[in-house]
Amino acid sequence: MPATDIQQTAPRWPQGNRSCVALAFDLDGPTGDAMLDGSIWRNPSYFTLGSYGPWRALGRLLDMLGDRKVPATFFVPAWVVENWPEQCAAIVARGHEIGYHGYKHEAFWTLDADGQRAVMERSARVFDEYLGIRPVGFRTPSGDWGPDTIRVLMEAGVRYSSSMRGDDRPYLLHTAGMAEPMVEIPGRWEMDDYASLAYHRNPNFPASLDRIASYDTTLDNWRREFDGSHRDGLCLTTLFHPKVSGKPGRIALLESLIDHMHEQGGVWFATCRDVAQWWRMNNADHASPTSQEASR
Ligand SMILES: [Zn+2]
Repeated sequence: MPATDIQQTAPRWPQGNRSCVALAFDLDGPTGDAMLDGSIWRNPSYFTLGSYGPWRALGRLLDMLGDRKVPATFFVPAWVVENWPEQCAAIVARGHEIGYHGYKHEAFWTLDADGQRAVMERSARVFDEYLGIRPVGFRTPSGDWGPDTIRVLMEAGVRYSSSMRGDDRPYLLHTAGMAEPMVEIPGRWEMDDYASLAYHRNPNFPASLDRIASYDTTLDNWRREFDGSHRDGLCLTTLFHPKVSGKPGRIALLESLIDHMHEQGGVWFATCRDVAQWWRMNNADHASPTSQEASR
């Protein structure tokens, strides 16, 4: 039987592993629109919904990842590092990666190039001063890119992003005038814990939907996404948030998901940084879905 297109385009992973899992968490804390417009300071309860992430859920998550010996990437707004430096230092101390995620979770597509540059420079100073690191990864906070974003990121030393949706494998984003492409590690909403588990009031979220999904159903969805990715030898990343899924009852979902992955065998668990580096070295001949995404 001739090989299918999916088999012919299956990526190569280290040590002959079948598929790749790059667990990633967005440690937003209380940053975001309400902080950017200042309204969060009149809404202390909402502030604590976010602060729960770095203050309480992160430690539980790090323990869980340590028990299972899997690395992860945390995309962290620099304001969170300034306000919970010890908690964020533990991410690095335990061997995980930290990537850029804005200073206060700015929507990059709303900023001009100088505005985006200012966010990146301020974030780089905070990461250097508080953690002694220089991240190479970026995940877009709150939405999309502007036409200048990829250039601003490259000039800031970013070498991979996990912001787009165009494939279920990494791919390369080329920019005019830049010799080196950026690696994109695309995620998807199915692996975003907000889609099934977020619920808060004032502001209402999800708007007019006063419930969350069943935990069993949520775990089943995530497991099926992994099963398909593993079957076809692809790369699965997550858009999980400590403040959403790092809670006492929900951490069991992540434990079960990772245990299920381990049971299948042949999974390369890696940070997004390591995945990007591997991809650049070993899979650069794979086509990209479109270079227009980067210049849109
Ligand atoms: Zn975020």
